[in-house]
Amino acid sequence: ATTPKRFKRVVVKLSGEALTGPGTHGLDGATLARIAKDLAASAGEGTEIAVVVGGGNFFRGVQGAGKGLERARADAIGMLATVMNGLALEQAIEAEGRPARALSAIAMPTLCETYMRASALRHLSEGRVVICSGGTGNPFFTTDTGAALRAAELEADAILKATQVDGVYTADPKRDPDAKRYDRLTHDEAIVKNLGVMDTAAFALARENRIPIFVFSIAEEGAIAAALRGEGRGTLVVP
Ligand code: UDP
Repeated sequence: ATTPKRFKRVVVKLSGEALTGPGTHGLDGATLARIAKDLAASAGEGTEIAVVVGGGNFFRGVQGAGKGLERARADAIGMLATVMNGLALEQAIEAEGRPARALSAIAMPTLCETYMRASALRHLSEGRVVICSGGTGNPFFTTDTGAALRAAELEADAILKATQVDGVYTADPKRDPDAKRYDRLTHDEAIVKNLGVMDTAAFALARENRIPIFVFSIAEEGAIAAALRGEGRGTLVVP
C-alpha cells in the first residue's frame, strides 16, 4: 500500500537503530545526514513533521533490567538515550538548511526545550521540524507509544513508522522465507495477530484515535519524502 493522501501534519517514528548505519551501536554520521536530508526535504514539501526518536542504538530499558538495574531506572537511562539522538538529529537537520527544534519530555533545560504541546504546535506552524525525545517521559513505555501519544495530541494525520523492513509481515522475513508482506491491515488485526511491529499500547492508542500508521523501510534514500508523496512501498494500518 501507499499512503492515501497529502498530509498536513505527520509524526515520523525513527528508531535509534535507524541511526546506527553499518555499525551496531551509536550514531553513524552519514546515516544521520541521509535521514536529516530526507526529513528536511519532506518538511520543505509542506508537511509539518514531528519526529519521535527512539534510543535503542544506545540503550533499552529491558536490557538494563536484564543486568540487574531496576526497570524504572533502566527506562530512565533509555529515555536519556533518546535525548542524545534528538540533539544529534536537530543539528543534522539544521545542517540541511531546515530549522529544527529538539524537545524533551523530561525537563533538561540546559540542553533543550521541555516538550509542551502548545510550543510543539507553534514550532510546527513556523516550519520547524520538531523532534520529540524522551518518549512519553514515563518508564514502562516505548517510543512507539510516545509516537502514538504525540500523534494523538498534535492531531497528526498519520504515523510514519520507519523500520528496517518494508512493511509488516506475517512472520519475521529475516528468519522465515515464507513470510508474506501485508499491504493493508487494520489496527485490530495488528493487535490480535500480535504482529510485533509496534507494541500493543501504541497500536491501541492509534486505534482509539483512528490514526493510520504507515510502516516502511528507511533503508533507501528519500524514503520519508516518498512515503509522504504516496510513492513509498509499505504496509498501511488503518481503522
Ligand atoms: N523509554 C521509556 N519510556 C518511554 C519511551 C522510552 O522508558 O516513553 C525507554 C525504554 O527503556 C526504551 C528506551 O527508552 O527501551 C529506548 O526507547 P525505544 O526502545 O522505544 O527505542 P527504539 O527501539 O525506537 O530505538
